[in-house]
Amino acid sequence: MIELEEITKVYSRGFLRRQKTIAVNNVSISIKRGKTLGLVGESGSGKSTLGRIALRLIEPSSGTVRFDGIDLTRLKGSKLRKLRPRMQILFQDPDTSLDPRMTIRECMAEPLIISNRAGPEEMEDRILGLLGQVGLQSDLIDRYPFEISGGQKQRVALARVLSLDPDFIVADEPTAALDLSVQAQVLSLIKSIQKKSNLTILFISHDLQVIEQMSDSIAVMHHGSIIEQGTPQDILHIPMEHYTRNLVAAAYGSDAWLGKIKDLRAKS
Ligand code: ADP
Ligand code: MG
Repeated sequence: MIELEEITKVYSRGFLRRQKTIAVNNVSISIKRGKTLGLVGESGSGKSTLGRIALRLIEPSSGTVRFDGIDLTRLKGSKLRKLRPRMQILFQDPDTSLDPRMTIRECMAEPLIISNRAGPEEMEDRILGLLGQVGLQSDLIDRYPFEISGGQKQRVALARVLSLDPDFIVADEPTAALDLSVQAQVLSLIKSIQKKSNLTILFISHDLQVIEQMSDSIAVMHHGSIIEQGTPQDILHIPMEHYTRNLVAAAYGSDAWLGKIKDLRAKS
């Protein structure tokens, strides 16, 4: 479904653009339809850059992005625009996707109007249906974003993304700004929606526990490179790389993976 091949991204800054940052360094990942790849790594490791490249919101310096077999890196103009609704991003901070001057009704109507997905007569029903899908009551519809909670805002942002019937979404730390209990609700909501609509997800987080909950496979990113990839079982219980062990230790306690290795040795 989504294949990134040998992606590199170099940012240039400063005088004569001479200061170079290699944000992503020769990364290859792929995600099958309906599956979630969890991308984990510390802040600045290149996760968001890679996620935006997967959606072609930014151009890679080199490498290929394929979506459903189509080479996105070569696609331009109307052909790319036609694919756009099928690929969406969910941000950490719902305030980036919700205009504070618009009611929830207006926020929700905007993508439906632009993409020609609903006419004026059916608009209200469509919006209420989408709000219901993300577990929101209909009485929220005429409120402004500042009149609802952070968790509700993130649900509205999710409903907006879903209104375009995407096949692929990049969720970039979508619950990092939420309280733990609300975070858990939004995560399980994303999972249940994924099951129903067979969504393919690139799920980005610095939090290994969140990644474990959400992912079919995990890629560990460090200084722009993927240093380790595998099933949650592999990554959490038999991490090969020193860096990954530290991540696991930080998330689960330093003995977590050691204990697991002892179990495995005892069995063999
Ligand atoms: P993460 O999402 O893992 O925190 P990012 O992809 O945001 O990492 O950033 C990776 C690296 O690229 C960082 O060193 C960051 O400072 C740099 N970077 C990100 N965006 C830009 C940009 N637009 N211009 C220059 N450097 C950038
Ligand atoms: Mg980021």
